[in-house]
Amino acid sequence: MGWGGYFGGPQSQNAARDAGLPHAGVPGDLRTHVEEVLRKEPEYPPVEVDFSHRQPSDPPLTLRSFLWPYRVQLGVALLLVVVESAMMQSGPLLAKEGIDRGVSSGNLRILLVVAAVFLGTVAAHALSSSLRIRYTGKLGERLMYALRLRVFSHYQRLSLNFFTQEKAGVLMTRMTSDIEALTVLFQEGLVNFAVQGLALLVITAVLFYLDPLLAVLTLVMVVPGTFVLSIWFRKVSDRYYGLVRDRIAEVLADLQESLAGIRVITAHNRRRHNVVHHTNVVGRHKDANLAGVRAASIYAPTTEAIVIIGQAILLFIGGTMVINGSLTAGELTAFVLYLTFFFAPIQQMVQLYNGYQQGQASAKKLREVLSTEPSVSEAPDAVDLPPIEGEITLEGVSFGYDDDTPVLHDVSLRLAPGESLAVVGPTGAGKSTVAKLIVRFYDPQQGTVRIDGHDLRTVTLASLRRQLGVVPQEPFLFYGSIRDNVAFARPDASVAEVLEACRAVGLTELLERLPDDVNSQIHERGASLSAGERQLLALARAFLARPRVLVLDEATSNLDLRSESKIEAALDVVLEGRTAIVIAHRLATAMRADRIAVVEDGRITEIGTHDELVALGGHYADMYATWMAHAN
Ligand code: ADP
Repeated sequence: MGWGGYFGGPQSQNAARDAGLPHAGVPGDLRTHVEEVLRKEPEYPPVEVDFSHRQPSDPPLTLRSFLWPYRVQLGVALLLVVVESAMMQSGPLLAKEGIDRGVSSGNLRILLVVAAVFLGTVAAHALSSSLRIRYTGKLGERLMYALRLRVFSHYQRLSLNFFTQEKAGVLMTRMTSDIEALTVLFQEGLVNFAVQGLALLVITAVLFYLDPLLAVLTLVMVVPGTFVLSIWFRKVSDRYYGLVRDRIAEVLADLQESLAGIRVITAHNRRRHNVVHHTNVVGRHKDANLAGVRAASIYAPTTEAIVIIGQAILLFIGGTMVINGSLTAGELTAFVLYLTFFFAPIQQMVQLYNGYQQGQASAKKLREVLSTEPSVSEAPDAVDLPPIEGEITLEGVSFGYDDDTPVLHDVSLRLAPGESLAVVGPTGAGKSTVAKLIVRFYDPQQGTVRIDGHDLRTVTLASLRRQLGVVPQEPFLFYGSIRDNVAFARPDASVAEVLEACRAVGLTELLERLPDDVNSQIHERGASLSAGERQLLALARAFLARPRVLVLDEATSNLDLRSESKIEAALDVVLEGRTAIVIAHRLATAMRADRIAVVEDGRITEIGTHDELVALGGHYADMYATWMAHAN
C-alpha cells in the first residue's frame, strides 16, 4: 500500500465505509488488524438485571453457603490438585530408586530411566499446576463477580437510615478490601490448602512405607513443635485480623470524607488538622498490622529452625542405620528430602490459615451488611400504584428517626390533586421529615400516608417513586453530561425533550455558554457550576420526569437576586398543575403556594392561604410582618 492509503486515498475511504467506521482513512491493513482485535474481544450480551426492593431469600453468607453452588467446579479443581500433588511428591521417591538401584549397583540404564521418569513427572506437574491455576483463577473471579453484584444490589435496596448510620468509606471497604480478602482465599487459599493437606498425607504414607520406625521418629520431631507454634500463631492472628479490617475501614472512611468535604475543609483551614487526624487513623492501622508482623517474625524463623535441626538429627540417626545396614542410602536421602517437603506444607497451611482468617473476618462483615434488612421494605403482596391524580393525605402521623426521640407528633394533612403547599417553620421543626415520609424514605411509626387513597406501605416502591419527583436542597449532579443529568429519571428522553426542560427552567443562557450544549460534561457533583445553576438543573430534571407529585426542598444558599428570581420563575413552570409540597425557606416562595402550613416542634400549628394566615395573626403573620419591615 502506498502513502495515499495512509492519507485517506479512495481505496481506504471504501475500506472505512465497508468497515462501518465513521471517519474515512483507515488503511486496509489496519482494518484487518482491527477486525482481528474485535474477533478476540469478548462479547458481552445485554445485561438483564434482576433487581427487587424485596429482601432476597438467599441463605446468609457463609463460606459454605457461598461455595455450595460451585461444588462441582471445586471438585474438578481438587482433582487437578491430586495430580499436581502426586507429581510433586514423587521426586524424593525417584531419587531413592535412582540411588539404590542405579548408583549403588552402577546400573546406568536404570539411572537413565529414573531420570527420564523424573523429568516426566516434572512436566506433568507443571502442566497440571498451570491448568489448576487457570481453572481456580476463573472460578475465583466468577465467585467474586457474583458477590460484588450481590453486595452492590443490596446497597441499592437498603433504606436511607442505613446510609445515615454507616459511613460511606466503611461501605466502600466492604466492596474493596473485604471482597479482595475473599478473592485471595478462593483463588489461592482454599485449593492450596487442599494441595498442602494432601501433600502431608502422601508424604506420611510414603515415610511409613519406607521405614516405619524412622517415620515415627520424624513425626515426633516435627509435629509437636510445629503444632504448638501454629496454634499460638493462630491465636495471635485471630485477634489482629478483625482489628486490621476495622482499621482499614476507618482509613478509607476518613479518606472518603476528606475528599468529599474538601471545599469546607479548605474554607475552614482544616487541611493541617486533617493531616494530623489522618496520621492517627493510619497509625492505628499500622499498629494493628505490626502486631501481626511481630508474630510472623517469631513464627517463620522458629519453624525453619525446626526443619534444619530435624534434618541434622535425621542425618545422624538415619546415617547410623545405613551403617548398620538396616536402611539404604537411597532411603535416607528420601527421608532427608521429604523432611523439607514435610515442613513446607505445615508452614504454608498456617500461612494459608491467615488467609482463611482474613476471609472469615471479611465474610462476617459482608454477612452483617447483607443481612441488614431495609427498614422501608416492600410488602410481599405490594401492588403497583396505578397512575395517580395526586391527592396526598397524612392521618395521625407520628415519627422519629429513632424510637426514643419523636420528631413528628400526630400530623394530619390533606392536599387536593394539583394543589401546592408551602411548609414553613423554624429549622429542625420537622419540615423535611414530612417530605421524607411522603416519598417513603421512611415509614411513620403511627398513622398512615396515602396517595390517592393508597397507603404507601401497600404499593411497590418503584411504581410509587416513578410518579413522585424530589428536588433536594442540595441537588446532586452526577459525573456525566448535562443531558445525562437532566434525563436522570427518564434516560430515554430525546435531546429535544432535554432542551425543552432546560429552556422551561431558564437554563438557555448556561447552555449557550457551554462548549457542547447539552452534551457538555459536568464535573463530579456539579462542582464547576454555580449553586443557582445546580438548582435549576435539578428543577429541569424534575420537569422532565413530569411527576404528578413534586416534593421540593428549597435551596437556602444565598442566591443573588437575579438567580433568585430565575429560580422563582422556574418553580412556577415546574409546579404548574402538580401536587406540590415545597419546603420554603423564604417567604417569597411560600407566598406563591396555594396554601401554607406552619410546622413548629413536629406539629402543624397553622394552615391556610397567605391571607388567612396573615388574618389569623399567629406565627406566620409575625414572620410576614418582619419580612415586610425588612423589605421596606
Ligand atoms: P427541618 O424543619 O429543618 O426540615 P428536619 O425535618 O430536617 O427539620 O429535622 C427534624 C428533626 O429531626 C431535627 O431535630 C433533626 O435533628 C432530626 N433529624 C433529621 N434527620 C435525621 C436523621 N436522619 N436521623 C436522626 N435525626 C434526624
